[in-house]
Amino acid sequence: MTAEELCSSLHTLLLQLPVYTSPSDVPFSNGLYFFYETGETSQHAPAGRIVRIGNHPRSDGTLVRRLKQHYGGRKNGSVFRRYLGGALIRCSTTQSPCLMPGPGLGHWERQHANTCSACDVIEKQVSAVLYSSFSFRCVEISARQVRNRLEGLLIATLANCGTCGPSAEWLGRNAYSTVVQTTGLWNSDFVTGPLLQEADFKDFDFVVSETVNKWVCTRNC
Ligand SMILES: [Zn+2]
Ligand SMILES: [Zn+2]
Repeated sequence: MTAEELCSSLHTLLLQLPVYTSPSDVPFSNGLYFFYETGETSQHAPAGRIVRIGNHPRSDGTLVRRLKQHYGGRKNGSVFRRYLGGALIRCSTTQSPCLMPGPGLGHWERQHANTCSACDVIEKQVSAVLYSSFSFRCVEISARQVRNRLEGLLIATLANCGTCGPSAEWLGRNAYSTVVQTTGLWNSDFVTGPLLQEADFKDFDFVVSETVNKWVCTRNC
């Protein structure tokens, strides 16, 4: 399968899963998450393209905690928040002291750099935009090794689809990472790694079905 065929199949596969708008909606504690963003659709994803794939790669049982770090945590605990905040600032000004002296170098965008009082406002804006413009789906994967392997393969596959890409107005075009800008994903790791192979796709198909059977059909079918 080509990256294009896989991209289309992956987006279709995930449509079976419920869409969440808050971390506490997620009924299980291990898995991958797939973010969607208002206004972002593509040929392979007319209902909404995936804009970020994430994981909790170094610990088990922390899927919801990881999502909470994105939605309501601090920028130093989430590269997603640093990307989002930087992009939001650039939409309104190019002169923010939080981004100086240049893209990726200011205290907002550098991990572990201390924040200032203006950053507190940005933290609130990042949380607000996550609740207003983003939603996500989750696939339950309890085995960490499987989770971590699929995460990288899935990101590389979506990043390499030559058909799908960000809209002209996509917020991520203002992120400092050129990888984010060009892939249309709020991800920068794994984008140049190996792509999903047929056997990996079957593995992913299986864990999606398991998630549907366990968490969707038991309640709704
Ligand atoms: Zn600041
Ligand atoms: Zn695509």
